Amino acid sequence: MRVKLFEQRPFLGGRASSYSLPDGEEIDNCQHVTLGCCTNLEDFYRRVGALEKIARYGRLVFVDSKGHRAAMEASALPPPFHLAPSLAFYPSLSWPERRRIGEAMLSIARRGGRNNDDDAVGCTMLDWLRAQGQNERAISRFWSVVLVSALNEELVRTEARYALDVFWKAFLSARSGYILGIPRVPLGELYEGCRAAIEQRAGEVLCRAAVRGLKENDERITSVCMDGGRQYSADFYILAVPHEVALKLLPERIVASETQFRQIRNLQVSPITSVHFWFDREVMADPFVTLLDRATQWIFNKSRLSEGRGDGRYLQSVISASYGLMRRSRQEIINLCLGELQQVLPEARKARLVKAIVVKETAATFSPQPGSDRWRPSQRTPLPNLFLAGDWTATGWPATMEGAVRSGYLAAEAVLSFCGEPKRLLKPDLPAEGLARHWVRATRRN
Ligand SMILES: Cc1cc2nc3c(=O)[nH]c(=O)nc-3n(C[C@H](O)[C@H](O)[C@H](O)COP(=O)(O)OP(=O)(O)OC[C@H]3O[C@@H](n4cnc5c(N)ncnc54)[C@H](O)[C@@H]3O)c2cc1C
Repeated sequence: MRVKLFEQRPFLGGRASSYSLPDGEEIDNCQHVTLGCCTNLEDFYRRVGALEKIARYGRLVFVDSKGHRAAMEASALPPPFHLAPSLAFYPSLSWPERRRIGEAMLSIARRGGRNNDDDAVGCTMLDWLRAQGQNERAISRFWSVVLVSALNEELVRTEARYALDVFWKAFLSARSGYILGIPRVPLGELYEGCRAAIEQRAGEVLCRAAVRGLKENDERITSVCMDGGRQYSADFYILAVPHEVALKLLPERIVASETQFRQIRNLQVSPITSVHFWFDREVMADPFVTLLDRATQWIFNKSRLSEGRGDGRYLQSVISASYGLMRRSRQEIINLCLGELQQVLPEARKARLVKAIVVKETAATFSPQPGSDRWRPSQRTPLPNLFLAGDWTATGWPATMEGAVRSGYLAAEAVLSFCGEPKRLLKPDLPAEGLARHWVRATRRN
């Protein structure tokens, strides 16, 4: 099929992209990471020739408020126990707390990935954890540390189903599920192959091309409307914009008459804040660290992670579900994150801060609140030639690049099957390994 892609910005990548500052420095909108369990994103990167631009890390370093460090790394034990030895050295928790965390992880593993049961759907992860006997320290120092950044939401607002899926797919079912993938290049450089793939098939990629609306006649979309009265028509239309934008572009009559579209309004959003720091000297050796008991959740050593950016002078701090920072001034946020960074990285206390930039994304992702799956529409719509894509559509996944790619594959599958040429594009999850495989089989039997 010939594809014409309209992108309102001058570059591709959407929320997972990068741009140039006035001084020429190219920065990511925010550090983006992927996990080994993101099989469709990996497939997408392979297809557009970006896979070798992703570096993989199997050692995750956690630092507590006293500066104690511990690494999470796979052992030789079979899944779901491969990360259990790391849990034994997890910082800032007592032995009984670690044991109870292990028990809760075992109970997630025993579900074998079947997380759609009543105790997980419609209830919050916080309630689920309390029911599993997890105390506040275990919740804030372990569960929140992993889940808030993975799901971009606080546990009190996260449906347990999403959180259990993350633990199962990333940490329990397969040995490589937790391996972190981080681009070696600015995010914008990942999509060059994407443009080329469309153009090689006689398609077109138009940037700075904002769509202003969709025209409908007799229950079909007839054209997209652009500035200056230009219109383009096609056989099929895939609307792949954030959900708030989709509601503005869809014809009002259709939104009012179709429940699937009306319900999109119920989706809530959650913010992410990041701070970029440039120092006059190297201040960090690790490629990244995860912080406990602080507002900052991750510090990324951007110099070390990116090709050709020299030593550890350029860092980025990331705070997911950053509700508490939305009303704070940029200077206050810089001061807060710089103070935390200096506590964890002694070299940063001696260094001079050259430049700092705060990026606040108030509507970074949709919020995986209890019941939110009800509002996520399918990629097929009641209009036969209109399809939806985007991380917020019904993929089963939280708002991630993996979810976005899945939505695109599902939308393309839907178009192909409408044309009578069905094709499977979606890639399966990583196969369960070790004992985890046994629990998958056992839950299927029940
Ligand atoms: C700060 C931040 C950090 C994140 N960190 C991670 C992470 O570490 N790992 C991860 O997996 N995910 C992360 N995410 C989520 C990830 O970025 C998104 O899930 C993913 O990019 C969504 O892709 P999408 O195609 O659904 O939507 P988008 O990326 O939002 O793409 C929509 C596109 O539509 C374009 N558009 C909008 N309106 C119009 C119009 N009228 N006409 C034409 N074009 C239009 C936009 O410019 C954009 O390019 C993060 C998101 C943010 C904001």
